[in-house]
Amino acid sequence: MIIKTTHSPEETRALAERVATRLEGGTVVAFFGDLGAGKTTFVSGLAKGLQLNADVHSPTFSLVNEYHGEKSLYHFDMYRVETWEDLLLTGFFDYYDQGEILACEWSENIENALPENTIRITIRRGEEENDRIISIEGFGKYENFEC
Ligand code: ADP
Ligand code: MG
Repeated sequence: MIIKTTHSPEETRALAERVATRLEGGTVVAFFGDLGAGKTTFVSGLAKGLQLNADVHSPTFSLVNEYHGEKSLYHFDMYRVETWEDLLLTGFFDYYDQGEILACEWSENIENALPENTIRITIRRGEEENDRIISIEGFGKYENFEC
């Protein structure tokens, strides 16, 4: 497990860009952490690192935002996902099976459904207003993940 502390949104985005360069298709990046933790900020760095020129915002009402370029990123908000059927309807499993890269906010709600090739990212607040403690843990093909 990697644990980093960032001190600004820019630092969080820079860390996310480094993570993005290591992502392969068929991956879930699963975010854990409260409102305002920095999940969406991290996803915007992932999009930049994947060279997607995207307007990244929480997909609260649409459930999933798609950002397309040479690669694609599927950005989910699982806040309202409560049942297996809810999850099926988001297309989560289909996109994963198609070899896409998925980023999921509120993965607390789908923890039991996370597939093998998952990178779990937990963001907590630190001592100062802009401190964030970010832990990154890879599973499956990301078991030895470094960044
Ligand atoms: P979430 O998606 O987890 O609800 P957001 O990324 O939308 O969180 O919001 C995080 C907020 O915290 C933003 O207003 C951002 O500017 C602020 N912030 C302050 N410090 C940091 C940091 N180190 N990393 C990420 N965001 C930070
Ligand atoms: Mg968000």
